[in-house]
Amino acid sequence: MRQVAIIGSGPAGYYSAEALQKLFGDEIRIDMIDRMPVPYGLIRFGVAPDHQSIKAVYRRYEKVALSGNVRFVGNLTVGGDVSVAELAGLYDAVILATGAPQDRPLDLPGSDLPGVVGSAAFVGWYNGHPDFAALEPPLDAPAAAVIGNGNVALDVARILAKSRSEFAGSDIVGHALEALERSAIRTIHILGRRGPHQIAMTPKELGELGHLEDAVPHAEAADFPAEAEDAALEPGVRKSVAHLRAFTALDQGEKRKRLIFDFFAKPLRIEGEGRAERLIVERTRLDEGLRAVGTGETYAVPCGLVVSCIGYQTPRIEGVPYETDRGRFANEEGRIGDGLYCVGWARRGPSGTIGTNRPDGYEVADKIAADVGAGAGKPGWAGLEPLLKARSADIVTFRDWQRIEAAETARARDGSPREKFVAIEEMLRARGE
Ligand code: NAP
Repeated sequence: MRQVAIIGSGPAGYYSAEALQKLFGDEIRIDMIDRMPVPYGLIRFGVAPDHQSIKAVYRRYEKVALSGNVRFVGNLTVGGDVSVAELAGLYDAVILATGAPQDRPLDLPGSDLPGVVGSAAFVGWYNGHPDFAALEPPLDAPAAAVIGNGNVALDVARILAKSRSEFAGSDIVGHALEALERSAIRTIHILGRRGPHQIAMTPKELGELGHLEDAVPHAEAADFPAEAEDAALEPGVRKSVAHLRAFTALDQGEKRKRLIFDFFAKPLRIEGEGRAERLIVERTRLDEGLRAVGTGETYAVPCGLVVSCIGYQTPRIEGVPYETDRGRFANEEGRIGDGLYCVGWARRGPSGTIGTNRPDGYEVADKIAADVGAGAGKPGWAGLEPLLKARSADIVTFRDWQRIEAAETARARDGSPREKFVAIEEMLRARGE
């Protein structure tokens, strides 16, 4: 019998479990450990609450979770309650599927001012992540600046732009819904340090901005190269650029909010008296390698909130080698060392869609088949359980999660799938209800 521990119950973790089940059938036991008392990682805490069709993939993970040879062990921190070295002693293989839930630091003068937040924090706030539920981002100034030209920047800008009625059917948490309804923000700048051809935003997500109830997107025609140059773009980017070109000609009409694409805009510093009041930006041009080069021309973007959406990194775990520049575990095609593997963003860095994690799962399953054989007789859960008991760890089972889930469903707003608990204690209490 092979004993495998997977750390992290987001998409990368569940695709790995699914692949291991397919490959080994009944000849494997999988314990899936998560530091949160609730499963699904990025699906619950990262994917935007108004993108329920993307979140629906959790049903597939639930099927894996409910099969006889997979155990959910929630509310247990690897690198805290138990070490990777201890798990490596108890399991034939340990797979790190810990994602990349930390912000890459913005590292600009003024980035420590109140009102400057990273996307992990801001997204965590509106998605009810216990670490960020108390964030209270300032929404009292008329403008906000969103730094970055990827899909996370689009998520953040869209959430800031939507009216309350547009959150119908979403599972945005109550505290965020109420705060956003009171928001004074009318202008949302989306800043890219390069141009429209260099965006990392996908067409569907960009197209959504053109159909908002009370907001209109705007891009400056002068920022675009000649239209004929679009033909050389990769098809997805070409479609996105077509949306952006359409945004140059939209009429504001009666709508109260504007989403302004500021291209060739490199943030230099954030200024303000005791809080963010303006972002100082340098105009850029592209060099031959399509890198942004400052032109020396600067201007100020007034804003009371700055959200930096410039990418994520994997948190370090003691004893696991790490590549600082890429923000992920040091690995060779998913192999970190003897019996230690990584998948998903912890392996590749934070890029790609949810589905990109699936092949990682199959690859790691093949590697484990080659490395581990029929298993070395390690104890797995039979060894971990007494260790956790001795440490009085308060773990959450999948059955417990189902009770938490039922309680979240029961207290949902009309039309919403759930009202999430946002504090760990609340989640733990809901197990017993
Ligand atoms: P991303 O796609 O890598 O975009 C990061 C953006 O930040 C880029 O535009 C980058 O510009 C910019 N940037 C990086 N460092 C910067 C700096 N120091 N100053 C200014 N700008 C900087 O990352 P992401 O938006 O965090 O998304 C992560 C992954 O999740 C992506 O694969 C994304 O597609 C995916 N995602 C998908 C969805 C969806 O499908 N609905 C939603 C959210 C996220 P440069 O190009 O100039 O480096």
